[in-house]
Amino acid sequence: MGTRTKERYDVLIAGGGMIGTSLALALSQLDLEVAVVEAVARDSDVQPSFDDRSTALSRSTQRTFEALGLWPKVAAASTPIRHIHVSDKGRFGFSHIDAEEQGVEALGYVVFNRVLGGVLQNAVREHASIDVICPATIVDIDLSGDEAMAIVEGDTRMELRAPLLVAADGANSSVREMMGISATRSSYGQNAVIGNLLTEIPIGSTAYERFTKDGPIAFLPVNDGRAAFIRVVPEGDAERVLGLEDQAFLDELQELFGNRLGRLTNLGKRASYPLALSRAVRLTAKRSVLVGNSAHGLHPVAAQGFNLGMRDVAALCDCIVDADDLGGKSMLDRYAEWRKSDQSKLVRFTDSLVGLFGSTRPPVRLLRNLGMLAFDLVPGVRGEFARQTMGLAGRLPRLSRGVPLR
Ligand SMILES: Cc1cc2nc3c(=O)[nH]c(=O)nc-3n(C[C@H](O)[C@H](O)[C@H](O)COP(=O)(O)OP(=O)(O)OC[C@H]3O[C@@H](n4cnc5c(N)ncnc54)[C@H](O)[C@@H]3O)c2cc1C
Repeated sequence: MGTRTKERYDVLIAGGGMIGTSLALALSQLDLEVAVVEAVARDSDVQPSFDDRSTALSRSTQRTFEALGLWPKVAAASTPIRHIHVSDKGRFGFSHIDAEEQGVEALGYVVFNRVLGGVLQNAVREHASIDVICPATIVDIDLSGDEAMAIVEGDTRMELRAPLLVAADGANSSVREMMGISATRSSYGQNAVIGNLLTEIPIGSTAYERFTKDGPIAFLPVNDGRAAFIRVVPEGDAERVLGLEDQAFLDELQELFGNRLGRLTNLGKRASYPLALSRAVRLTAKRSVLVGNSAHGLHPVAAQGFNLGMRDVAALCDCIVDADDLGGKSMLDRYAEWRKSDQSKLVRFTDSLVGLFGSTRPPVRLLRNLGMLAFDLVPGVRGEFARQTMGLAGRLPRLSRGVPLR
């Protein structure tokens, strides 16, 4: 990781996770001097962004990486999803979405977060215009002057200044708080238990999502022939599920998922994440803005959180390209206005999916089955669902369309 060489930058990014690092790489296309302040060392076991999860990348994220010249490396580490198969335990009928039917080569690509992290962090190292200050945290900010000022504590205590400060420090963003922006947070009362395993029938390029009374289960294809899984469990059951012997865990998963992929074996390490919906009440303060999970934390049911954050990155970059005053009020207003509708739509879409598929109340179950069949049978409905999943709905900024910034 780079070390601090300056006291003044064009853009100061708090958080060098998936979104902060991607933003830094995007800004390097504009020859801006960028500092990324990241709390956790790159190869730490507890790096919270580049961990053992896997992420399904949407087409708009793919295009962004293409525009940044990173796609060949990300693609080499990813597995395409060509089909999505959605079913409901104990119910008749399933839905599927097919890439060919949608006229695309793949609906998305799956990559291990740790592997994506390696690609992004290596790319950052190649840019002299990006300084990564790590491990270090922003402990205070001052937004009263013409520039944002941040006090950073790492090896030493330093004051950094920039006309634009970006909070990309995740759902529990402390920089968001320092900006004076509150966030609403509601727990889903669920945890996601993740890991990977081998399936007897090769998973190929199909992603499976199955709704059970406890919560959804997803299997995603990953590039060594294994399947990454997410099993959503009620919060109170998470500790028990995490503590099960491997075989007992596999037996439960098999019982919930069924035999569509044959026997499930060779379980890897498991980890658990509490699930909540969080949303900042505003996206900007003077000389500062929120991107990624600091602005919105979603339930992973529709695999959209990172992808939505990448559209924040792309829109912010467009606003920066077009701005006369980097970090000035009109640039910030434009960003906030632009992102409002995409973020609200995704929050509502994901939240309603959780409500629709998570409930065991009889009327909702009926609706849920109708809903699933409806979106399989009615092309318009399924087309809209697929467009949302692929991240192509709404007005798209340059990077999300695969167009370089310069
Ligand atoms: C189980 C699960 C599965 C998911 N699957 C998908 C998926 O398939 N597709 C998808 O699009 N999304 C998915 N998501 C969502 C996705 O992981 C998040 O949206 C994404 O990680 C957000 O990235 P971020 O960089 O904004 O925040 P984070 O990943 O939380 O990164 C924040 C970074 O900031 C650092 N930091 C924190 N505080 C400070 C501080 N004070 N100073 C400096 N640095 C700080 C942290 O160390 C971290 O590196 C999933 C989420 C979960 C829980």
